[in-house]
Amino acid sequence: MSPLTPVIGPEAIEARVRGLAREIDAHYRGEPLVCVCVLKGAFMFFADLVRHLQCGPELDFIRLASYGGGTSSTGKVRFMHDVETSLEGKHVLVVDDIVDSGRSMEYLLNILSRRGTLSVKLCALLDKFERREVELKVDFPGFPLKEGFVVGYGMDYGEHYRELPGVFEVKP
Ligand code: 5GP
Ligand code: MG
Repeated sequence: MSPLTPVIGPEAIEARVRGLAREIDAHYRGEPLVCVCVLKGAFMFFADLVRHLQCGPELDFIRLASYGGGTSSTGKVRFMHDVETSLEGKHVLVVDDIVDSGRSMEYLLNILSRRGTLSVKLCALLDKFERREVELKVDFPGFPLKEGFVVGYGMDYGEHYRELPGVFEVKP
């Protein structure tokens, strides 16, 4: 196991997640919405976020290939599991754990927006906006993050640490 440094605690996450839910409710109220969880990293964030939503969204899940065991992006993404809900005539909110280079989300949002959606927007718990390699905006960002590799609250390093209730930096 590697040494972990606390970055964001459970209370701060809880408060921010409630705030995000209010922003999302205000934006989509009365509109047909599908919230799409990007597995596996966003599972805990997604579960906490959607339980605070009042707008009655449909929920679905998608899976892209991850980094594998390492900590740097190859820039390549694979589509491993697709949504099972029709997205046609609906707003889509993709919920991810962390946006780094932005390549995975650029790929995913492009695919989803070709399915007759009303809109496709992105919510991410963490936004490493300074590391962006493509033009991609997180519409509903949780926290900005400078650099470093983080784990916990759904995010892993070699499939470990996903269960932690807070976000930690790991020094491999
Ligand atoms: P991007 O395509 O934006 O470079 O990569 C985004 C994906 O890489 C995230 O959804 C996440 O799965 C993974 N990732 C990026 N930075 C981190 C990090 O600091 N920690 C963990 N655990 N995963 C990360
Ligand atoms: Mg991810």
